[in-house]
Amino acid sequence: MDPCFSDLKACTLDKHKPLVIVDVDEVLAQFMAGFGTFIERHGFELRVDRFALFQNIYRPGETEHLDLIAGRALFDDFFRDGGEDLLPAVGAADALADLSLQASVVILTNAPEHGRQTRARWLKTHGFDYPLVINSGPKGPSAAELAGRVEAPAVFIDDLLPQLESVAASAPNVRRFQMVADERLRPLAPSAPDRHARFDLWPDLKVALREALALDGR
Ligand SMILES: [Mg+2]
Repeated sequence: MDPCFSDLKACTLDKHKPLVIVDVDEVLAQFMAGFGTFIERHGFELRVDRFALFQNIYRPGETEHLDLIAGRALFDDFFRDGGEDLLPAVGAADALADLSLQASVVILTNAPEHGRQTRARWLKTHGFDYPLVINSGPKGPSAAELAGRVEAPAVFIDDLLPQLESVAASAPNVRRFQMVADERLRPLAPSAPDRHARFDLWPDLKVALREALALDGR
């Protein structure tokens, strides 16, 4: 088992340190861009004209999207084999490295079962060598469990509004931040900035996270 990989119970935290709980796809990784590159190599194209995944996959020249079962198969292949096409979000590794000097970082992702080891390796390769917790479904209960282990501020970062809402419901003391790494998805992503602050660039997000976590200096 990769040492980067742990489950929720095995993830030990320093209870005196602030906590950063962070998603992967469209937060640490440029998922849509990588998936687009991957499916192009397989003869398909991604048209980012809605905030969806399988409905955006087309055969070149066609106007109807690929059927959902074939889209799902490409998605499964990407999680298993597409690591080379998946690039990190700009500035994410540097920002987390800075935050990790004073805070604990836990990566909370909903990667499918068959992609877990690949995902753990990808994270480590790209400078995200932090405990990895694989979640399934809404992230609120897991975020509440993690935040309950520290006696310090905690933040949660995700691109998906339902996940931010889930954390608001289960762990209302955890400050929520939305980040959408893909420029094409940014105008399409549902947001509620009155409830979950939104920053799409890591340098800006880092400043807001430092403030929320009451970190000193810089
Ligand atoms: Mg995501």
